[in-house]
Amino acid sequence: MTVPQQFKGFGIDKAENWNKPQLVKYEANQVASHDVVLENICCGLCGSDIHTLKGAWSPLQRNDLVVGHEIIGKVIAVGKDVKDIKVGDRCGIGACSKSCMDCERCKTDNEQYCNKKVGTYNSEDFDTGYISQGGYSSHSIAHEQYVFPIPEALESAVAAPLMCAGLTVFSPLVRNLGEDAKGKTVGIIGIGGLGHLAIQFANALGANVVAFSRSSSKKDQALQMGAHDFIATGEQKNWNTSYANKFDFILNCASGIDGLNLNDYLSVLKVDAKFVSVGLPPVADTFEVSPFSFIGNACSFGSSLLGSKKEALYMLQLAAEKNIKPWIEEVPITAESCGTALTRCDEGDVRYRFVFTEFDKAFN
Ligand code: NDP
Repeated sequence: MTVPQQFKGFGIDKAENWNKPQLVKYEANQVASHDVVLENICCGLCGSDIHTLKGAWSPLQRNDLVVGHEIIGKVIAVGKDVKDIKVGDRCGIGACSKSCMDCERCKTDNEQYCNKKVGTYNSEDFDTGYISQGGYSSHSIAHEQYVFPIPEALESAVAAPLMCAGLTVFSPLVRNLGEDAKGKTVGIIGIGGLGHLAIQFANALGANVVAFSRSSSKKDQALQMGAHDFIATGEQKNWNTSYANKFDFILNCASGIDGLNLNDYLSVLKVDAKFVSVGLPPVADTFEVSPFSFIGNACSFGSSLLGSKKEALYMLQLAAEKNIKPWIEEVPITAESCGTALTRCDEGDVRYRFVFTEFDKAFN
């Protein structure tokens, strides 16, 4: 199959229209020697899509911006130097699609931290100047390092949220807890797309998992996902007083900072334990924290970005073996359904991930 010169997608012209995508056609980026081209099958809706469309992190780089970075598709073409992926394979692409592959980070399984990394959308290709377009679209192109073969046991719609949400929580969990977390207590804050997968992966690694949510409305579902305990921070005032010295690791997956008192979370960590925030609010929002919050237990604060290909392959294998599945609502993709899903996700009305499907009908 040849690669079409023009791709189709659902894009927006400006941030005010963040939830009013329209069908757009655009020139494709050129296919480089290490690139893989997918005909897209489905794509998840990540909280980052909304931050980006609203211009909450940076200005929109195009006036036909297509987002989406939880992409599953069928390989229709590969560059001449691609070795391990072939036409016909089913693969996924997450939130990054290229990096230099030459720096120390790229060579040591930290390629997502490359200073030249290219995001899957709204990001400039350092070779061609092309502004990348995401996966609410007919086709996607990525460097082979950012293309992950999908195990047969995982259906496409189930695999999609693993490309970004799954990998983003899996990487800091294994980096901080190792592959066997038995006997360790882990807190997961914000039970959305990322958080509900973090509960499942932390449980699969053997940890004792405590879910934190602003209200108790997700309690039963969080326990079903594998949480052993649940704290509704907006309803249980001074919850931290009964959890002193309890946590080996806390992972924040919330997309905002409302009601998130960092000092309370730091106070319940064990000595030398760490609080990692993968959740990212609008760029102007900041945490308030007292230097005294770190002194009582020598705790640390940090963050984490996506995950490496090595971690992605391990995560997919674990998901297939242990039957770890995102809870999804499938949405056949149209301009209207895309806008509705963006609005509903922004309002917190999703349990727990939208996945756009039926791309063949929308783009053929
Ligand atoms: P979702 O919208 O699916 O879930 C976010 C959850 O955060 C909600 O379910 C809610 O949990 C909580 N929340 C929502 N609004 C607020 C608010 N204003 N203040 C405090 N908490 C809030 O988003 P995702 O799971 O897709 O993404 C979560 C975050 O992770 C986003 O900021 C996203 O940009 C970021 N992200 C970061 C990546 C990285 O590499 N570091 C990669 C991908 C995403 P509850 O109701 O339980 O309180």
